[in-house]
Amino acid sequence: MKIIRFQMDGKEKTGLIEDLNIIELKSSVLESLNDINLDKFKKNSSYPLENIKIKAPVSPSKVVCVGLNYQDHAAELNMDLPQEPVIFLKPPTSIIGHQDSIIYPYSSHQVDYEAEMGIIISKKAKNIKEKNAGEFIGGYTVLNDVTARDLQKKDGQWTRAKSFDTFAPVGPVIETEMDPHNQNIFLKLNGEIKQDSNTKKMIFAVEELLEFISHIMTLNPGDIIATGTPPGVGSMQPGDRIEAGVEDIGVLENQIIRS
Ligand code: MG
Repeated sequence: MKIIRFQMDGKEKTGLIEDLNIIELKSSVLESLNDINLDKFKKNSSYPLENIKIKAPVSPSKVVCVGLNYQDHAAELNMDLPQEPVIFLKPPTSIIGHQDSIIYPYSSHQVDYEAEMGIIISKKAKNIKEKNAGEFIGGYTVLNDVTARDLQKKDGQWTRAKSFDTFAPVGPVIETEMDPHNQNIFLKLNGEIKQDSNTKKMIFAVEELLEFISHIMTLNPGDIIATGTPPGVGSMQPGDRIEAGVEDIGVLENQIIRS
């Protein structure tokens, strides 16, 4: 099922996508992720998907990102495979939704895209084991881990480079029923394919990441784990149109503009 958060009449609403329509739900996104029977939440209102203002599907307390998690990306960079995940955070203020604009900051001269699959946490998770990880996953989304590459190199640590407002486009939906271990993942820049891989090439699978991260920090409902980017990372310029996609989830589209 595809769960969506959208804006209508000045209000934020939750919906379920069926064909090309949104069926409005009474429940919040998090309530919807924690209940298998969504029929009881369905309202009598449905709207055609086109022209709907789609919001980022969750408002997390944090976005935990994994660096260098694709075998083919490590090969491209001539780097050894990491022994354990390298993680960093993006603040919730960096989040924007489908079709929102990424703002190119004046302090950077190289802003890169990174298409990633995002895990949406549905329940509070601390010290969980790989084998139970599924109980804490509400679904999956697409995330673009926008990075000011020059500042990342200059600073040596990543907070500034990863944290600008608008540097975490997320969406357009949460897919609740897919297999995360074999999904084509891609990115198109102005319609031209730049990244093209599959989540089966991840070094650390979704369940391993949950065990590793929840040992360090409590994951709250709505938190997002960005699972790393495949090869083909590159720069964007103001005016560019960026489409990041994961096979069963859909395509997250944004444009980049000058601040
Ligand atoms: Mg990344």
